[in-house]
Amino acid sequence: MVLIRVPPRRPHFDKILIANRGEIACRVIRTAKKLGIRTVAVYSEVDADSMHAQLADEAYCIGPAQSSDSYLRIDKIIDICHRSGAQAVHPGYGFLSENAKFAEMLAAEGIVFIGPPASAITSMGSKSESKNIMTTAGVPCVPGYHGTNQDPDFLLSEAQKIGFPVLVKAVHGGGGKGMRTVHSALDFKEALASARREAQKSFGNADVLVEKFVTRPRHVEVQVFADTFGNAVSLWERDCSVQRRNQKIIEEAPAPGLSPELRTDLSEKAVAAAKAVNYVGAGTVEFIFDKDTEKFYFMEMNTRLQVEHPVSEMITGLDLVEWQLEVAAGNPLSLSQSEIPMVGHAFEARIYAENPRNDFLPDSGRLLYLSTPEPTTIFAPALPPALAVTSDSLSLVQTMPPPRVTPSVRLEQGFGVGAQIGVFYDPMIAKLVVHAEDRTAALRVLRKALDDYKVVGVSTNIEFLRTLAGHQAFIAGDVDTGFIPKHREEFFPPITDPGVEVFAQAALFVVLRERTSLTQSPWSSLGARRFNGDALKRTIALQADVDGAIPSTIAVTTLGPNLFDVAVTLSSGVETVYAFVSAHLLSPTELVATLGLRACRTTIVSQTPPAHAAASAVHSTMERLHIFADGERTSLVLPSPTWLRTLGGDGLGAGAGALRAPMPSLVVEVKVGVGDIVEQGDAVIVLESMKTETVLRAPRAGIVKAVGCAKGEMVEEGKELVDIEQSEEA
Ligand code: ADP
Ligand code: ADP
Ligand code: MG
Repeated sequence: MVLIRVPPRRPHFDKILIANRGEIACRVIRTAKKLGIRTVAVYSEVDADSMHAQLADEAYCIGPAQSSDSYLRIDKIIDICHRSGAQAVHPGYGFLSENAKFAEMLAAEGIVFIGPPASAITSMGSKSESKNIMTTAGVPCVPGYHGTNQDPDFLLSEAQKIGFPVLVKAVHGGGGKGMRTVHSALDFKEALASARREAQKSFGNADVLVEKFVTRPRHVEVQVFADTFGNAVSLWERDCSVQRRNQKIIEEAPAPGLSPELRTDLSEKAVAAAKAVNYVGAGTVEFIFDKDTEKFYFMEMNTRLQVEHPVSEMITGLDLVEWQLEVAAGNPLSLSQSEIPMVGHAFEARIYAENPRNDFLPDSGRLLYLSTPEPTTIFAPALPPALAVTSDSLSLVQTMPPPRVTPSVRLEQGFGVGAQIGVFYDPMIAKLVVHAEDRTAALRVLRKALDDYKVVGVSTNIEFLRTLAGHQAFIAGDVDTGFIPKHREEFFPPITDPGVEVFAQAALFVVLRERTSLTQSPWSSLGARRFNGDALKRTIALQADVDGAIPSTIAVTTLGPNLFDVAVTLSSGVETVYAFVSAHLLSPTELVATLGLRACRTTIVSQTPPAHAAASAVHSTMERLHIFADGERTSLVLPSPTWLRTLGGDGLGAGAGALRAPMPSLVVEVKVGVGDIVEQGDAVIVLESMKTETVLRAPRAGIVKAVGCAKGEMVEEGKELVDIEQSEEA
């Protein structure tokens, strides 16, 4: 007979404040609701109607849009805690989540910080100090300079010692910001300056470290959890190798192809790392794994809940936010290492407002239309604790027989239809999480879910993710952080002309919707005329939404209430006629049509130009139709009639020397003045949008004719920033 002494369980908090926004705030609120904990949201002025503010029991405005005036205002957040009676604060990720001062100030006010002790944040928040701690603890680190000397010449000499390529990293960085890969000494100083500037802005500290750039690395990280009683466990690893701009876009658990021995080794090292800093709560120990040498190195520890935590939840059946709340309330971890399940395989795809074809630059705008795959679950699946093989060891989990895994789809959203994805915050819109029996099955579920994910209003990476999830090398699990550049050609094949069926469907949509609307918009073609008494023939011009596209013409003849002849003449001159097409609109965005022998149901969403945009040949000033058919998306433009364009003054369609803002952004630096002579490729303007810096370079050599922006100014997408006149002799 064994007597087990269970410490009395401490009650949960009654009320917590969530110092964050978007999907993570919503995620935390959901678990709090499940546990009967009341929630307090804080929001900035532009987030007044946001989902997180609506989901919470109470919500308070804490200031203007800029994070530094709202989500980063410690004083205001503490004040709201007092006013609302919140006993604890969940910081989410980003913002104040890894701010030791915040944790300390909360403690001083008697408010619990749902996270690690300030001392652990401080040690691990610095990539330099954490590397020193790890080296002492016997965990290998990437070779490099992690010291305090920040002199550019000195750092350059260190880089030369390490050998190019090197990576310049913000010591207090995160989210891939303040990081630059440098291939040669020539580029070093410009990259250093840019990294420092970004670091200063994002983290309030410009210090950098320089380390060896591993050329074929995998990013493998371990989820750890520790309680206040000195217990620490690993919830296994995640592979987050597929990245762009040093930021993860698709993550999975467990890591494919990892041997049980390596898994155990990594987990043990990660737990040791957590114990070395007396860690408490959820943390992630990141490793870089060199595919060539099969060696792994400690990279950094994130002292917070990670964006990609759901994949670990899916394979362990746990709710990590619930675990965080338990630990913060002073309760011990509910499972020992040997009881932690590892069942099936999970993926997370991050849905970003961005433009993959344009170097993944962030996009902003309103979510005009949103149709997501149907989630089958809100939390992780309930799994039985693993059978203890040996007590409290990290040896491989064995559950006999393994529980059946029902494929599941989970959505972590922070924004609904109508929400503005603004330039002030991160461009992540949502996360799509899937779980299934094994990797192949999970990928199949992911692809289907991505097919069903439709967004209009901002460019997204959804189609890119879909291509990725269907890529042979990815299916084979052959990933490293250079995966996207390596397969660029396959990910971005040349854009082909839309198919005939797409043009036919779009034209039918235009004809059908006008029956239901009283006002005839000037954006549709004007060539309507009656002929043969009762038949009505409309000719509509449509073109692909790519530069230089030539319009195709579609003649739609109405034969009866829902019966049409459709003749499509492609720009190539090829004509296709569909006779006796039956078609109708199921809803303002759903077209049903029988083309030939095929019945198709198509989602078509119209995006009208902003009211103030003058008509011109620039696509963003015209109506666009987004057609979602057979898992593919096509965007067509209804060209504005030429007469309207002359009214609008198409003078805007400037020459080859004009540099325009590729997205709404803040002008960080103007490097030229009128009259300056520039070479092709010279950095001319530095922009910042969604915490990312973009350098605009001279498209050709010449003389600066005009500068249309100033440092510190917010500029709209498409605004002409600099005009460069070709010099005479060039
Ligand atoms: P993960 O490793 O979980 O992907 P990241 O390091 O990418 O986490 O950062 C998580 C999120 O927090 C990202 O959206 C990033 O832009 C944001 N972020 C990271 N550090 C900061 C910071 N200091 N201030 C504001 N946002 C940050
Ligand atoms: P952050 O705090 O921004 O997440 P990390 O130090 O974790 O910064 O690095 C982010 C990503 O950059 C990693 O996931 C990896 O892809 C890449 N990276 C980091 N260090 C190296 C390195 N030494 N060599 C090659 N790639 C690296
Ligand atoms: Mg990292």
